[in-house]
Formats: sequence, C-alpha cells, structure tokens
Amino acid sequence: MKEQLYTIPVNDAFDTDCECPVCAMYKQLEDNAIDFTMGPSYMEDDNRAVTDEKGFCYKHIRMLYEQKNRLGLALMLDTHSQKIIRDLKGLSNQKPSSSAGLFKKAGGTNSVSDYVDALEGKCFVCDRIEDSFSRYIGTIFALWKKDTAFRAKLTSSKGFCVYHYGMLYKEAPKNLKDNELSEFLTAVDKVFFDGMTRVNGDIEWFIDLNDYRNQGADPKNSRDAIPRMINKTNHFMQ
Ligand SMILES: [Zn+2]
Ligand SMILES: [Zn+2]
Repeated sequence: MKEQLYTIPVNDAFDTDCECPVCAMYKQLEDNAIDFTMGPSYMEDDNRAVTDEKGFCYKHIRMLYEQKNRLGLALMLDTHSQKIIRDLKGLSNQKPSSSAGLFKKAGGTNSVSDYVDALEGKCFVCDRIEDSFSRYIGTIFALWKKDTAFRAKLTSSKGFCVYHYGMLYKEAPKNLKDNELSEFLTAVDKVFFDGMTRVNGDIEWFIDLNDYRNQGADPKNSRDAIPRMINKTNHFMQ
C-alpha cells in the first residue's frame, strides 16, 4: 500500500510542536529537495536536462543561493541560461503583428511572451516537492480513517495555517465520505479556530505590552507571536 510509505513523515509532522503540521510536512520535503538539487544530482545528465528546462522559482533560487555550493549553482545557471538564449533567439525570429482590435487576440500567437510566461510557472524544486506532497495529503485522510492515535494527534494539534485549512477543505470531500468527512471537518474547524484565536490573543498581548500601563507585565506567549502568526497567515514561512 503506497500510503504506508508516508505514514512516518506525516506522523512526524503531526508530532512537531508547530502552528501547522502541513507546513511542517512541506518544509521537510522542501529541505530534502534543496539538498537533492545541490547534491551530486546536478552532475547527472537526466537531472540537468530538467533543471535546464525548468529553472527555479524566485523563492527556491534564493534558497539555493543560500546553500554553500556556489559552483554547483553556477553550473546549473550556466546551462539553464544557455538554453534560454537558444530558445528565445529562435522564438524572437517570429515577431508578433500589432493587435487588430480589442476583441481579437493580439497578433495571433506571441511565442516569446508565451515561452516566458510558461517558464515563470516552472520550478525544478517545486515540482519535486509537489509529487510527494500530494501523497502526504492523501496519507492524512488514510490515517484519519484507520488510526485512532492519529485522530487524537490531529484533534490535539495547534491547528493549521489559513492556506492549508483551505486545502484540507478542498481535498477532504474527495477522500472521505459521510460521517468520516463530517467528523474530520468538525475536528479541523475546532483546531483551526482555536489556533487562530490563540495566536491572535498572543499578538494582542504583544501590542498591549507596548502600553506603559503594562510595563513589566508577564510577556506570556507574545515574544514569538509575530512569526507564529505569519506562519498562520502566510504559509511556509517558519
Ligand atoms: Zn500550513
Ligand atoms: Zn520553486
């Protein structure tokens, strides 16, 4: 059973003390994908063909740049940029004509801008994460169905970020039905709203501590309220 393979990382994420275990799952996959990209893999022709073709999104090129392997990154950028030059030189020979009217597609096709638009949506690291990530999400539902210990973990978690709360709502009806579905969503609602309200309270206490009347008061859980709320509102930032 495929999902069996993923129960360990999914359980690990739900065991982590964090504001969103789905973010924790993603982060683990992201770190692995960055390590893989900067490991010996870039010397292999198969992988190199893919990095040449896809390149990296803004977030991941920055993460790669922060790694120590500058030579590896330079080698990937070298052949990726050579491919871009080659492709765009060819496409730029096909000049678009001016748009004939508001409702007519400008000049038919515009190969250069279509190519660049498509390139913007591609990332070697994102794609590598995505494959496993969707299986991890599937594993959450598989565990919810059969594993009471996992149910207890989810219902006692600190909730989810807004983005992953929405994702669970979107995916749950595809994976669960009847009672299982309603129980899952009720549990997710409870931990999500409890978590958001709790961190919102921490943010308010952080603000109130700036009031001179609260000078010397116990900071409680307000010290890291901002990064924890950023994790809730802006997923993947931890
Ligand atoms: Zn999240
Ligand atoms: Zn990416």
